[in-house]
Amino acid sequence: MSMPEILIIVFGLVVGSFLNVCIHRLPREQSIVSPPSACPACGTKIKPWDNIPLISYFILLRGKCRSCGAPISLRYPLVEAANAVLYYLTLVQFGFGWHLPLLMLFTSAMLVIIFIDIDFQIIPDVITLPGMPVGVLAAAFLLPDPFLTFRTPAGTAVFEIVGIVNSLIGLVTGFGLFYLIAVLSKGGMGGGDVKMMGMVGAFIGWKGVLLTTLLGSLTGALVGVTLMVLNKAGRKTKIPFGPYLAFGALVSLYFGTPILRWYLGT
Ligand SMILES: [Zn+2]
Repeated sequence: MSMPEILIIVFGLVVGSFLNVCIHRLPREQSIVSPPSACPACGTKIKPWDNIPLISYFILLRGKCRSCGAPISLRYPLVEAANAVLYYLTLVQFGFGWHLPLLMLFTSAMLVIIFIDIDFQIIPDVITLPGMPVGVLAAAFLLPDPFLTFRTPAGTAVFEIVGIVNSLIGLVTGFGLFYLIAVLSKGGMGGGDVKMMGMVGAFIGWKGVLLTTLLGSLTGALVGVTLMVLNKAGRKTKIPFGPYLAFGALVSLYFGTPILRWYLGT
């Protein structure tokens, strides 16, 4: 593994630790910068050395609060590790450039949405409303088209830019399609999903919207049926769709070109 790859993994872990704060506080409309993190059980402030990604959880604290011994959710290290993996994939797939920080912003946004939607069945406007114009601006000048990303024999990533037209069509397709589903399902699909799909379209274009919708529906159905078979969820259990869509958007971003090639049989 090269030095840049190691550095981006470490950076991904550190940002992942901050994403845990966002996941906890954004839906509660609390500030994400202050006060410093505290144990949810006893309120003791978490010391900086107990806040090192992965190491604190697995080695220093062994999954328990230092003051009160209350168990700490395994989700914290999971989010840190997942964000590091996403950043690593972003670098490996698309290489260095100004597109890199913008794609990292996008993948972290999707990760935060997955967990907030699981917990609260909402997708915060604070992410998706700025996400739409930022996506269009970035896609117009910098962002790689995930369906036109290739590799030279030397392993360098080569891609076409999404472009403003594809991005705007993506925004309208994502927003419009899910707005239609929301109206037809009479509230079965929330407004949060509508705005998130607008953002997804802005970042990865209209093909990205279609593949995201397909992958989101497939994984959603697969998990839903599995839960039903395991009797963990009845037919009436409300399962949010947002996490599957956000997952589908990430898969589309990283694997759009190979999936499209496989589909076209080339
Ligand atoms: Zn505690």
